[in-house]
Amino acid sequence: DSLGPTICVGEILVEIMARSVGDGFREPIDLVGPFASGAPAIFIGQCAKIGGSAGLIGAVGRDDFGRLNLDRLKADGADISAIVVDDLYPTGSAFVRYRSDGSRDFVYNIATSAAARFGWSEAVETLVHRAGHLHVMGSALSMGSAVDVIERALPIIKARGGSLSFDPNLRKEIVYDADTERRFRDLVAAADLLLPSGEELERAAGVEGEDAAIRRLFEMDVKEIALKCGAAGAKVFRPGAAPIFAAAFVVDEIDPTGAGDCFGGAYVASRRLGLGPEEALTIANAAGARNVTRQGPMEGAGTREELGRFIAETARRSR
Ligand code: ATP
Ligand code: MG
Repeated sequence: DSLGPTICVGEILVEIMARSVGDGFREPIDLVGPFASGAPAIFIGQCAKIGGSAGLIGAVGRDDFGRLNLDRLKADGADISAIVVDDLYPTGSAFVRYRSDGSRDFVYNIATSAAARFGWSEAVETLVHRAGHLHVMGSALSMGSAVDVIERALPIIKARGGSLSFDPNLRKEIVYDADTERRFRDLVAAADLLLPSGEELERAAGVEGEDAAIRRLFEMDVKEIALKCGAAGAKVFRPGAAPIFAAAFVVDEIDPTGAGDCFGGAYVASRRLGLGPEEALTIANAAGARNVTRQGPMEGAGTREELGRFIAETARRSR
């Protein structure tokens, strides 16, 4: 952590959620929100909240949704100096409704909102030159402005002796175009730490089966893999060491959105603050679990103290 903040690049948005389960938004329904959101924002918020220094690169509109996001990130302790406030375009948004089978309907306004309108600037350059770690969200690979900043930032951070983590954040079925697929491969190969969830592990490795995927990734020189398994907990793999397993905390899941990003923010921040993989895994496992107990993707993120209390008070699932 002494090398400088952990940074992340990408979409900042508000999320507005349907209160009822059902199909889409074709009739008037009760909504709740806006909630601060966007995978990179959730990650950086949780990172900062447990005491890791962290900064976000992205953009919001000059409106209340943007203000809400900036206020939240600032309150969490994040560096917002490289977030652009766009005078013309509104803050990104996502309306979300759960269907009865657990899948979701979305109405997105991201690509055509302020969320995508940022690039390399003096503020970005200053933050990148101070940064010690870059975290990349797979979702950012479909945003051209984020890709530009990431490709410029990575060599600068690596040259300073900094590190890279990558959350593939990609369902197995999704096929990228050739350029994006190449970027995806390059990021996997360059990552010191990989944070896949479920089958994203195999997607990232390009081979079937957990053991084979892990072996392949170590051959590609990935140094650490934190695998997210939802309500089944999480695991950490490192070359030459026994895998570490963390049983899930028993919680009442109110809203699963943001669990993976809170897990990642807590894991990266904990490791960078000097904690070992086992302790970092416990904290990250708690951060993900605690986050699903609140409605809103960033509402359940915890401070170090809150997570400590959560760990002490919450039962763990037996296998
Ligand atoms: P996201 O939907 O944010 O992309 P993800 O698929 O990347 O999430 P998950 O595996 O769903 O990540 O969640 C991350 C971590 O949060 C899990 O590994 C676990 O530690 C914790 N977690 C998530 N859901 C639950 C739950 N229902 N009960 C207990 N812990 C949970
Ligand atoms: Mg994920």
